[in-house]
Amino acid sequence: MKKNHIIAIDGYSSTGKSTLAKKLAKALNFIYIDTGAMYRAITYYALKNHLISDRHFDKEKLIKLLDRIKIEFKTNPDTGHADVFLNGENIENVIRQMEVSNFVSYIAEIPEIRKKLVAEQRKIAQNKSVVMDGRDIGSVVFPHADLKLFMTASPEIRAERRFTELKNKGLKVNFNEVLENIKSRDKIDTEREDSPLIKTDDAIEIDNDHLNQQEVFEKVMQLIKEKQINPV
Ligand code: C5P
Repeated sequence: MKKNHIIAIDGYSSTGKSTLAKKLAKALNFIYIDTGAMYRAITYYALKNHLISDRHFDKEKLIKLLDRIKIEFKTNPDTGHADVFLNGENIENVIRQMEVSNFVSYIAEIPEIRKKLVAEQRKIAQNKSVVMDGRDIGSVVFPHADLKLFMTASPEIRAERRFTELKNKGLKVNFNEVLENIKSRDKIDTEREDSPLIKTDDAIEIDNDHLNQQEVFEKVMQLIKEKQINPV
């Protein structure tokens, strides 16, 4: 039987993980899974149901309601990429809003939530070749991934990219707010107790400050060749 392959891409916020992951998935005909979208989906659910705000967070209630949260990915025929759905609603764009970004790392600290999403991520990848991006893919979700990448870039460059991306999507954004959000998520994501963002010893670091998207893609395709990871 042909073995399925896992490519794990971890790293700080807005380091170009999803751009790279989408390109690799397309080139290899693998499935791309954006795990950040799953944490964002739960955050969106919490906001919509008034469980989280600047003033309060009803963590216990959210944990009780987790069984009611159904997250799915379905291919969007216009973009060719998978959109994320929450209980049947396409939330691909709303989860990119700053309001969700500002709360998502607090949601992602909760062990019960991580447990649910990690189980779902493993299930989606069962018998399939996937490119998965996130913060704990190479360390927790798939410690035996065929290739592990760890992406970095300076906060200013990342904020620049994120700001342009959001503006192009027609979302209202402020550069300093984007920069502060990136720094604050980095801090929470690396300091949390459950599955903090770490570079595992076997992950290959890609510094995005000095390489453009195409150069990163070509470098990783070379690594894929060396590892004998074949397209499906
Ligand atoms: O990848 P993205 O920036 O959309 O992720 C949003 C947030 O979700 C991250 O800042 C992090 O707090 C959380 N996350 C996580 N583990 C993952 C993916 C995302 O904790 N595997």
